[in-house]
Amino acid sequence: MARFDPVAGLRPFLATMPEYVSLEDPYEIAQRYGVDPKDVIKLDGNENPFGPAPRAIEALRNLDYHAEWYGDDNQVALRGAIAGRIHAAPEAIVAGAGSDDLLNQIFGMYIGEGDSIVIASPTFGMYAYDSGLHGARVIDVPLRDDWTFDEDGMVEAARGAKAVFVPSPNNPTGTLFPERLADRLLDTGALIVVDEAYIDFAAAASLAQRAAGEHGLIVLRTLSKWGALAGLRIGYAVMHPQMADLWRRAKQPYNVNAAAEAAAIASMADAAVLDERAAILVSERERVTRELAQLEWITPVPSHANFVLMKLARGDGRTLRDALRQRGIFTRYFDTPRLRDHLRISIGRPEDNDRVLTAIREIGEELAHG
Ligand code: PMP
Repeated sequence: MARFDPVAGLRPFLATMPEYVSLEDPYEIAQRYGVDPKDVIKLDGNENPFGPAPRAIEALRNLDYHAEWYGDDNQVALRGAIAGRIHAAPEAIVAGAGSDDLLNQIFGMYIGEGDSIVIASPTFGMYAYDSGLHGARVIDVPLRDDWTFDEDGMVEAARGAKAVFVPSPNNPTGTLFPERLADRLLDTGALIVVDEAYIDFAAAASLAQRAAGEHGLIVLRTLSKWGALAGLRIGYAVMHPQMADLWRRAKQPYNVNAAAEAAAIASMADAAVLDERAAILVSERERVTRELAQLEWITPVPSHANFVLMKLARGDGRTLRDALRQRGIFTRYFDTPRLRDHLRISIGRPEDNDRVLTAIREIGEELAHG
């Protein structure tokens, strides 16, 4: 008897495996470009350059749980700490191993073969990736040239779709999802998932409280950006308690590891420090945007997040990314037709941003004079 065939045995919709282009390993890039990893300014993953909150670091140092014991599957202390920050009931919250895990769970519960989801490109790649992984179809209603939503187009597409996925602020444009569009989309009966990974850097209110009180809306938040815990993988979803109850029964048990749980609870207790650091990143974002706008070959997109997308009139995104890599500065280039002449730069500490701006000015001169 022939052995199990790993390709032929796949579920048919996985015949064309979806692909997610994840971040390149910084140590590998450093080696390739001959730069010392210690000198790298990592601005490609929208991470938080200040690192975890002091109390989170302390909690990780003093982990007093037994690693041989399972953590709290019911997430009682964790949900309580999160509830205090977002002013919603713990019953409306479910935590997971980052937003990526939460997204996968939403698909597991609600979206599969025969379903379609609506996105507005360019946007975070996981929605389309998860859709492919679960056999659903993507309806893309692209953002307009000025990166605003085609609101009527999205409402039209949402009718008959199972769900709509939008980040607010959007990655990579940094633009906000207007609440009036949320209202219109909710009325279509589709599940509306608003991914607020970057909301702590935005001049806009979170929809989390609203999600806790009405059906049809899920808000995703993460500790990866504001909380600087990307490597520990922890995030949470806020929704109507009835859905949260179903979700807690459908999730994998113990999906949040004990170290992430301890660091997240401590981060909530240190929210004032994290908010202060977020405010520094916001003022640095405004400074970087202003200074980039003074260069005749760069048009930055006004951003509500901890990164800035910029349009380039000299070279293209890949050229600038590679030239910055040679100087130890790592940024994110998207190899798609609409973004080839763009580059996304996460906001660093003030001294990092100074180095970045100097490097960009130098590279601009080089590109202009050959
Ligand atoms: N949502 C958006 C919009 C993002 O840009 C990212 C990270 N790049 C994530 C979610 C991932 O969050 P997490 O680390 O919690 O999985």
